[in-house]
Amino acid sequence: MNCEQAVETERVAPGLRKECPVCGARDLLPSVTFEALPVLCNALHPSAASARAAKTGRFQASFCRNCTHLFNSAFEEERIGYTQSYENSLHFSPRFVAFIEDLTQRLNRTYALNGKTVVDVGCGKGDFLKRLCAWCGAEGVGFDKSFEEDRGARDSGVRFVNDWFGEAYADLRPDLLSCRHVIEHVAQPLGFLQALRAHPGICFETVFYFEVPNALYTLRDLGIWDLIYEHVSYFTGQSLCTAVEVAGFEVLNAGTSFGDQYLFIEARPGAKRLPAEATDSCEIEMLARKFERAHRDKIAHWQDYLAARDPEKTVIWGAGSKGITFVNMVPLAARVGALVDVNTYKQGRFAPGTGTPVVAPEALLGRSVDTIVVMNALYRHEIAGIVAALGVDAEIVVA
Ligand SMILES: [Zn+2]
Repeated sequence: MNCEQAVETERVAPGLRKECPVCGARDLLPSVTFEALPVLCNALHPSAASARAAKTGRFQASFCRNCTHLFNSAFEEERIGYTQSYENSLHFSPRFVAFIEDLTQRLNRTYALNGKTVVDVGCGKGDFLKRLCAWCGAEGVGFDKSFEEDRGARDSGVRFVNDWFGEAYADLRPDLLSCRHVIEHVAQPLGFLQALRAHPGICFETVFYFEVPNALYTLRDLGIWDLIYEHVSYFTGQSLCTAVEVAGFEVLNAGTSFGDQYLFIEARPGAKRLPAEATDSCEIEMLARKFERAHRDKIAHWQDYLAARDPEKTVIWGAGSKGITFVNMVPLAARVGALVDVNTYKQGRFAPGTGTPVVAPEALLGRSVDTIVVMNALYRHEIAGIVAALGVDAEIVVA
């Protein structure tokens, strides 16, 4: 199929970003639009009222026909302010911990991290770095403005800094610099990567590990609940590789992980390159073209599904990005009884936008629940086990 035959007139609205943040191309295809998404979907609120008054922003997905990058061209960085209420730790789930264990073991096998220095940029609550250092015998320094000092005991060999990894930390010489689930939040991903590359503590031998959500999973497998305001960028394998190479890195290894939901690149400093000419991106472009319709159909399906039941007797399992997006995108989902989450720091709080309460699994015992909607198929088995152990009799479906 020749993509050129399907070219439409550019429909990019005024005020939107008109250039791809990765390759600079202006050949953009508009896709899904939302007028009001909560700008911080992982910041849960202390009351339903403040949750309903949460700040929102416009989302206009644009697809770059040159490097296959998908991004929110209506993103306004000044709307976002990450705070310590930003809670996105997944380390309460055994399924996720098993993934992290595999990852740290693989990195250790490849780069022999015992006694080495690891810097984790955007370390969140520090769970990944603590596990990496504990299992590999590395020394770790985590940087994140949302890090909370008081979560658990201080682990030996690991320290955390509530700051950006800037030139003030020139004395830190990381052997491995990890940066997981950060680049997709940044309005200027190239500038961000170039700043990391240019940090005075970086040398030719420094290995970088980058990990981001996989846009192909969103487009091909219709993981539409991953479209959130915090994520400016939705990288494909091609656009992530382009970003890393243009920023001056040499790619050592690249692939997908966590059931194809994540993309990773291992790299080291190299020569800067110009963005490559468009490669054969027809397949991804076809998916991008179909995405707006497929997205609408999936929302309609879940609206019908809830309409055929009692939404109040339905709960959503997972109060992360996907669950919060589900209750905000599917109109009837605003009426579901609760969001269930195993993360104790989320329980007792409320979802931005709809004000849906977040409860512990044990709270299902006191409720009349017909249906449990699971937000990520990878956790279905784990959740079914918890539900069975509680003795709750409800249908479990995956959104
Ligand atoms: Zn591009």
